[in-house]
Amino acid sequence: MSYDENNIFAKIIRGEIPCDKVYEDDHCLAFNDISPRAPVHVLVIPKGAYVDLNDFHEKASDLEIAALMRAVGTVARMTGVSESGYRFIANNGIDARQEVPHLHIHVLGKRDLGGMVGRAPFED
Ligand code: AMP
Repeated sequence: MSYDENNIFAKIIRGEIPCDKVYEDDHCLAFNDISPRAPVHVLVIPKGAYVDLNDFHEKASDLEIAALMRAVGTVARMTGVSESGYRFIANNGIDARQEVPHLHIHVLGKRDLGGMVGRAPFED
């Protein structure tokens, strides 16, 4: 899938629409999810144009990949969830129901997050 320069997170990175910023560095931006599913629900995104983790894995530099993981850790510390526990999720593609075609990691916490996915255990 080619990158859509007009996706909503691309517009946030370009400053064309606002976000509730939590953290920013040279490679990453983190902001509160507009429709939070938990008391802490932050989206951590690379500033580079990557559709999803597949795209990121193929094209991003080691520096960008390290920076994204470090940003997740920083956001977890800043929001206090590194103490209480948290989940990070990156939805990729159709089966994961990815809505925004710019890689983003959801950092969720400050409540019991329940089971890993919202279905009974998989049986073939
Ligand atoms: P996903 O299903 O993983 O693609 O999740 C996309 C997420 O982006 C959802 O949790 C939305 O609530 C969130 N979202 C969409 N638009 C915005 C926005 N303008 N600012 C912050 N979060 C947004």
